[in-house]
Formats: sequence, C-alpha cells, structure tokens
Amino acid sequence: MKLWTKIFIGLVLGVLAGLIFQEKAVMIKPLGTLFINAIKMLIVPLIFSSLIVGMTSMQDTKQLGRIGIKTIIIYLCTTAVAVSIGLLVSNFIQPGAGMHIDLNHQFAVKQAPQFVDTLVNIVPKNPIEALSSGKMLQIIVFAICIGIAINITGKKAAPAKQFAESIAEIMYTLTAIVMKAAPYGVFALMAYVVGQYGMQTLLPLAKVILAVYIGAILQIVFVYGMGITVVGKLNPIRFFKGILDAQMVAFTTTSSSGTLPATIKCTHENLGVSKNVSSFVLPLGATINMDGTAIYQGVCAVFVAQACGIELTMANYITLILASTLASIGTAGVPGAGLIMLSVTLSSIGLPMEGIAIIAGIDRVLDMARTTVNVTGDAMVSVLVGKSEKEFDESCYYSDKLTTTVLPANESA
Ligand code: ASP
Repeated sequence: MKLWTKIFIGLVLGVLAGLIFQEKAVMIKPLGTLFINAIKMLIVPLIFSSLIVGMTSMQDTKQLGRIGIKTIIIYLCTTAVAVSIGLLVSNFIQPGAGMHIDLNHQFAVKQAPQFVDTLVNIVPKNPIEALSSGKMLQIIVFAICIGIAINITGKKAAPAKQFAESIAEIMYTLTAIVMKAAPYGVFALMAYVVGQYGMQTLLPLAKVILAVYIGAILQIVFVYGMGITVVGKLNPIRFFKGILDAQMVAFTTTSSSGTLPATIKCTHENLGVSKNVSSFVLPLGATINMDGTAIYQGVCAVFVAQACGIELTMANYITLILASTLASIGTAGVPGAGLIMLSVTLSSIGLPMEGIAIIAGIDRVLDMARTTVNVTGDAMVSVLVGKSEKEFDESCYYSDKLTTTVLPANESA
C-alpha cells in the first residue's frame, strides 16, 4: 500500500475514533506528540546539512542569486493573491453577520514581533543558540553563509563539505524511517482534535471555518493548479498526487516547519525537484511563505469587522492585503503562530483585538487548513523554480511509482 493511502486511512480512522470516544479520545494525544517530536528531531540537522549541500553543489553564484530572487517574488505574489481570496470569500459568506462581539472580553494578546526586529534578527549573533532553539530563518542564514564560505575556501574545506553531505544522507534515511510511522501519528492527532473540539465548539463559528476552508480549496485548486499548469506546463493532477503525503502531515501537525522533512521528501522523490532547489526553496518557504495563513488573516479580519458592525472601506482592504502579507511572512511555521500574528492584521485597520479571543477557540481547526495550503504553496514554488532552473526531473514527475525509499542526495535533474 502506498504511504499516502496508509496516512489517509489513519486520518479517517482517527476522525471516527474522535467521534466515537469524544473527550476520551484526547487520551491518545501522547502518541501524536511522539510523532511530532520524531519529525521535529529531524528538522534542524536536516535543514542545516541539506542547505549546505545545496549551496556547495551549486558552484554558480549567479544561479544561486537567480533562484533566491525568483523564489521570493513568486512567494510574495501567491501570498497577495491568497489574502485577496480570503477577503473575497468572506465578503461572500459573511461569517460575522449578525454576531455581536462583547468588547469587554478580557484577553491577553501576545505581542507580535515587529517587522524591523524580524529583519535585523535574521542574522544570528549566536548560531549555536539559533540551532538549539530551532530559529529557522537564522539557521537558514547561517547555513547559507557556511555554504558560501566552503565554496570560497576550496580544497581545505572539502572534508567539511563531505561531512555535510554524509549528514544530509543520514537525515534523508531517518526521514524515511520516521515517515513510516506517519499513519499512526496522524491517526492519534486526528482522534485528539476531533475528540477535543467536538461539534459544540465548532458550530457557532461554522461560517468562519467554512470561509477559511473554501479559501484554502480555491487557493490550492485554482492558484496552485494554474501555476503548475500554466507557468510550469505540467499536469496538475500529478502534482497533487505527489504532494499528498506532505499535505496530510501538514493537516494533522499544523506546522509547516514540522512538515518540512515530508515536503522535501515528496518534492524530491515524487515530483522530481532536485535537492539543490528543494533544500533551499522549501525551508525558506516554511518560514516566510504562508498563503494559508494569509487567507485566514483576511477572513478573520472581515469576520471581526462584521461582528462588530464596522464597515470596511476600499482603503481598509488595501491596508489589509499589505498587513496580512507582512504578517504571514512574519508567522513562524509552528502551530498557532498565525493566531498571534492576527494582532498585526487587526490593528492595521484598528479592529478590536478581542476578535482573537473568539477565533482562538477554533484556531486549531483553521490551522489545519492553512498549514496544508502553506505547505502546498512551498511545494508548487519549488517545482516552478526547479523547472525553470533545469533542476527538475520530468520523468520522475510523471513516473507512476511514488517512492517510499530515499534517493541519494543530488540524484535528480
Ligand atoms: N501553523 C501554520 C504553519 O505552520 C502557521 C500559522 O499558524 O498560520 O504553517
């Protein structure tokens, strides 16, 4: 049986278990946490080593610059489209109509980081601390610097380069092993979520959930489907099939960083993107490209405005598109991060922060949809960038067997 089939069965059985056992299903949460921990264990060494390998095997610095610029531009464009979809869908569904937010609600809003701080902090003053606390953007910057330095040093740095290659290989093998446990982890996580957030919690805000899910589906099917078809000139069905494992891991773990090992595995083994490109584009995407989060921010802003009876002007909408795009860039790829960043979006047009408290109750369910979009967006961009840089193996993309074994690094293109 293919891995995604097993994961899917785990997902369905998990939902059933949650419905049947209700709160008792929460008991199984530790099994899910175990799976998340196992995946998290991979992230730092995997990203660090594979980024260095990516940097050192791309001797051509021009190519590197090109890939960086292309990646960031596509990321920004898809995110702006995503917010707009969120705003449109929520204007259509009217999630907040007829609700009355109690403005006296007490809720301590966690301070969202300032944009300038985020920028300044991308250079780690203590790289070991960055590695040990898993600060993704800092790790990326440090790995890029090391990679460049290895290239410049030349012969004397050869052992370091080999060492990184060896570690990367080992991490790919370990990823394959951990992914074998995914069906069980996914089962446990689904049972826990459904058990904890039964129908009662979800019903009052059903329209918000509906709007976010519709926005997510539109983004995945139309924006990414079109991107793959029109820009990449590839069959989109193949793309969606190839990325399914990662989508299911994203849906259940609600962490794009946590899903990274699965995303790298899928894009390389099923979609034929070279490790050089995927090991650069994907970690960056898991940190800054959050289209699902952007959709969610748009929907929530409109929801809060409607619930408070505030009419939004065209200028408000434009501010929202900018603020949500920035907020989504600043959102870390970890569970619930988008909720904290919602304060940036709401405050950009003076909406009450209390809205966050109301959304908080159903945030997990929304996080599942937005993380799935986030991860799919990263994968799409890696395919587009890979194809345009000829770092892409079309026969692998169209090959029927979805591999569950690990290919050696750099074996592609
Ligand atoms: N959980 C999301 C992710 O990891 C971020 C968010 O909370 O919006 O992609």
